[in-house]
Amino acid sequence: MKKCLAFSAGIVTYPCSAFMNGVIPGEQELHRKVAMFQEETPRGIVCRICPNECVLKEGEISDCRNRIVRNSKLYTMAYGNPCSANVDPIEKKPLYHFFPGSRAYSIATAGCNLACLNCQNWTISQTSPDKTRNYDLLPERVVEESIRNNCKSIAYTYSEPTTFYEYAYETASIAKNSGVKNIFKTNGYINPEPLRKICSVLDAANVDLKSFNDSTYLKLTGGKLQPVLDALKIYKDMGTWLEITNLIVPTWSDNTEEIGRMCKWLSENGFKETPLHFSRFYPTHKLEQLPPTPVELLRDALKIAIAEGLKYVYIGNVPGNEMADTKCPSCGTTVIGRQGYRITVNNMEGGKCKNCKNVIDGVWG
Ligand code: SF4
Repeated sequence: MKKCLAFSAGIVTYPCSAFMNGVIPGEQELHRKVAMFQEETPRGIVCRICPNECVLKEGEISDCRNRIVRNSKLYTMAYGNPCSANVDPIEKKPLYHFFPGSRAYSIATAGCNLACLNCQNWTISQTSPDKTRNYDLLPERVVEESIRNNCKSIAYTYSEPTTFYEYAYETASIAKNSGVKNIFKTNGYINPEPLRKICSVLDAANVDLKSFNDSTYLKLTGGKLQPVLDALKIYKDMGTWLEITNLIVPTWSDNTEEIGRMCKWLSENGFKETPLHFSRFYPTHKLEQLPPTPVELLRDALKIAIAEGLKYVYIGNVPGNEMADTKCPSCGTTVIGRQGYRITVNNMEGGKCKNCKNVIDGVWG
């Protein structure tokens, strides 16, 4: 049986039925589609999807590696050809307050608009769709497969869905009409107009807030901090259920004073009810020489966030599932208990704590 690069990158959980039913990655031509949010200028075609705002001349390929100008039009090559298609637990995104215990049909194409030194999925994010082995899964088929695999939602994930925007938008529109939910796992590096448009078909997002220092953002990821902060506010305003992940990378984003400023900003800007996941870094890609994040530092970050008034704070990627349970902010009861990606305790009833009837923020079904 052939394997796609995503499998060798170790991000598979269980194979989807598309794979089981004989859709073999890597044996078909790439689909292409006219790109959205493009503008013709005397300097070339500008893509307005993300703050990179690439300006491309005939034949040139975008920073995200999956867009090309042909005959004076910008095309996406990341349409209908995901290099990864798996069924994941929703907890893996991570989304802890959105239909816990449900399954998410998870797709990604090659490409990303950032270039993080610590990328876990660099084998698919830092390449283009003509270099990965891909499934042939047009939007209708993705929705069919998600239903066939008993998935509550479709997750646009692993690489960066902002860069496979057209594919995600069309799939999500069909899914919405079929009663399937849509989720972005994203770096939040997207311009306001495309974000508002995609939010109209999204139900939830987990956004990586990678640092609270603009210079670190540039050196670690190639991007800027402010557009991500703006995106968080738009997700919130649009009513998309939001959770935030902060990966703490030793020597890069492990300054507790900076973590404190980030938590204060979240607290003062309406994100007290937004779950915050502090995640442990493991050596990878261009930062293989660094040690994993000390668990003690993750515990300190959690205390800082709670002191700033954030109600739901978690630690991820640590042994023993420490601080992965959801506690009722009012009475302290464990309302959702987790072991790995499994739900072991459920003390919720109608979106409230069974014990004290306090409303627990989230989308519980
Ligand atoms: S989505 Fe890709 S092509 Fe468009 S601006 Fe961003 S990096 Fe450039």
